[in-house]
Amino acid sequence: MSNHNICPLITMADSDLMSMIDSAVTLEKLKDSKINAIWLEATGCSGNIISLLDAKNPNALYFLEQMVNLTYNNSIMAKEGQQAFDIFLNTLDTEFILFVDGAVALKNNGKYNIVARNNEKDITALEAVKMAGERAKYVIAVGTCASHGGISAAYPNPSQCVSISKVLNREVINLPGCPCNPRWVIGTVAHIITKGKPALDNLNRPLLFYGHTIHDRCPRRSFFDRGIFASKLGEESCMFKLGCRGPVTRTDCPINKWNGHVNWPIGDNTPCIGCAQAYFPDGMEPFINY
Ligand code: SF4
Repeated sequence: MSNHNICPLITMADSDLMSMIDSAVTLEKLKDSKINAIWLEATGCSGNIISLLDAKNPNALYFLEQMVNLTYNNSIMAKEGQQAFDIFLNTLDTEFILFVDGAVALKNNGKYNIVARNNEKDITALEAVKMAGERAKYVIAVGTCASHGGISAAYPNPSQCVSISKVLNREVINLPGCPCNPRWVIGTVAHIITKGKPALDNLNRPLLFYGHTIHDRCPRRSFFDRGIFASKLGEESCMFKLGCRGPVTRTDCPINKWNGHVNWPIGDNTPCIGCAQAYFPDGMEPFINY
């Protein structure tokens, strides 16, 4: 048997997440004091907003109706053009949370990623992130690209993408993951609105979700401890010798899994590829290789 333990203080189950929201303030009170939010899609694949829309317990509707007033999202909002960007500008004069999904392209002064037009002028993601990032109460980088550069900044990085913290001179809460698990977004916001900013680690990740390595709590850990390793994909033992990056990757995937606790990579016989780590993907390649 392995001697790894689950620490209840930094493991948030769905019931804990809901009770944190419900017990600290009543839903009505929360509704009245909902903080505004801007969600900026910079250089990425939209995977993080899609992941959020697939949230379960609480789901995305609960998040949008009860927890934040999402005024602007350049990927999914109904308004377009100047009408949409005016809402972005108006939100800057309020108290708001800025979510950024995707890295920021720096090449040619950010012209590799135009996110809006204002009075006939192109607005780059670089400009929009700076405009909102300097005034937001909290800045949350959603996903590995926003947190660390990720796939958008992978070699040879033709658009010179960087993380959000490289373009803002302030604290950024990082929620890496490719994509980011919706529980990490909703849980972080739930903590902010009910108890304030969650405790962060040295890479500004909430300890609630990034406090342990996957290896610490992997259900296959007893195989590792006994030196029983899979020699090919499909064998239900430790995948360390198939290149599993669980020993260096910090998320709560073994406990809370994905898609409403349905499954996760190791549960489906696929080694962890370290998608939530700072040097993903370049520093984690070659995948499936010891
Ligand atoms: S499968 Fe990966 S995370 Fe699980 S015990 Fe083996 S090396 Fe660790």
